[in-house]
Amino acid sequence: MAKKKNVLFECQHCGFTTPKWMGKCTNCGGWDSLVELSEQQQEVIKLTSTSSPSGNNKAKEITQIVEEHTERFSSDDAELDMVLGGGVVPGSLVLIGGSPGVGKSTLLLKIGSNLAKQNRNVLYVSGEESEGQIKLRANRLGANVDNLYLLAEIRLEQVLGELHERAYECIIIDSIQTLYSETIASAPGSVTQVRQITFDLMRIAKERRIAIFIIGHITKEGSIAGPRVLEHMVDVVLYFEGDSGHELRILRGFKNRFGPTSEIGVFEMRSDGLVSAKDLSSRFFNRTKSQSGSALTVIMEGTRPIVLEVQALVSDTHAPNPKRQATGFENNRLNMLLALLERKLEIPLNSYDVFINITGGIKITETSADLAILAAIISSFRNRAISKETVFIGEVSLVGDIREVYQLDQRLKEAASQQITKALIPKKPIEKTAIKCYEIDEVSKLLEWF
Ligand SMILES: [Zn+2]
Repeated sequence: MAKKKNVLFECQHCGFTTPKWMGKCTNCGGWDSLVELSEQQQEVIKLTSTSSPSGNNKAKEITQIVEEHTERFSSDDAELDMVLGGGVVPGSLVLIGGSPGVGKSTLLLKIGSNLAKQNRNVLYVSGEESEGQIKLRANRLGANVDNLYLLAEIRLEQVLGELHERAYECIIIDSIQTLYSETIASAPGSVTQVRQITFDLMRIAKERRIAIFIIGHITKEGSIAGPRVLEHMVDVVLYFEGDSGHELRILRGFKNRFGPTSEIGVFEMRSDGLVSAKDLSSRFFNRTKSQSGSALTVIMEGTRPIVLEVQALVSDTHAPNPKRQATGFENNRLNMLLALLERKLEIPLNSYDVFINITGGIKITETSADLAILAAIISSFRNRAISKETVFIGEVSLVGDIREVYQLDQRLKEAASQQITKALIPKKPIEKTAIKCYEIDEVSKLLEWF
């Protein structure tokens, strides 16, 4: 009796699989997006989706386990090294996602030239631009160096063939959406293509201990075009963020098998390319002008304190539902703080629209900026400017208490280095500081500052 053939269809938009063909994907609603997978492709799905290792795996006593030491080398870029958790890991597959035009190619060409300068062979594969175009950019970046090889190619098989030419230590793929494998019928950028290519690259990375960086464009919806499946397969996922109108770029860790994801890297887009933002802190606030609606705070991004400007705009409205809108700050938290202001400080915010903006494209994910948000709102409401020599640091509780925040000493140290002289904080710091500290334990006392 002949073996029954396994039939599996996969949606080329979202990666949904089903044994039955349908005209419309039940997962994402896409029409005509289901493609039948070959046995080999089904095998790849099985290999990449199971997390349990095969074979006999027995529990070991923890004391008998040898610690793993991840070998790394520096990319000669302090910001990238930090986000990677201490440097480039040989044999790792790193995905760098970001919207088109944010500067991913520029960043990786620069990293590639850094590595080439260390006498490592680097292969830059581009399916987006010609060799001539890349050369022009390399001239601008100072990346026109020996050991950096360009290959304008979109066929995976040709890229793999190139690996026989010399021993590469790093490969850059620009981008995963343009690369395709001739063994697969579906279009470049489709789920099946991306999965198969990533699988092949992963194998090459591990077998030959080559560090591979993959560029992935992000769609308007904010996910990497094609499938989420890519994020699951690679070792490290970084996102490169920043809007084109602004020169600051932030590289953020999203997943890292070899280290923490809490660190960010900051770069500046200049006419001669991207440069690591060395004097980081002063880039997130304007120290010269005191304006109403602006307050300073210090947040922690990983291990790094950053002085930030928080801006608020409070304007009266006759609309029954006033607007509350925050960029870089959580809307729910803003609503809570506004309710508190109305309740404790009797500020009639229900007839005002409130907008919050955090400068520099930073997203605040901790509560230490609560006090600064409140200060900015009151400042805008009363139209009184706050001195640019004061920082506000503190979490605000639901009952209006100001709570302590972690690493206060480090935050104050950073503020002091930015010539800030005063701080409103929940509790006196342990270490001595050059900053004059004022303790504040309750929201209502904030009004004394206006
Ligand atoms: Zn679908």
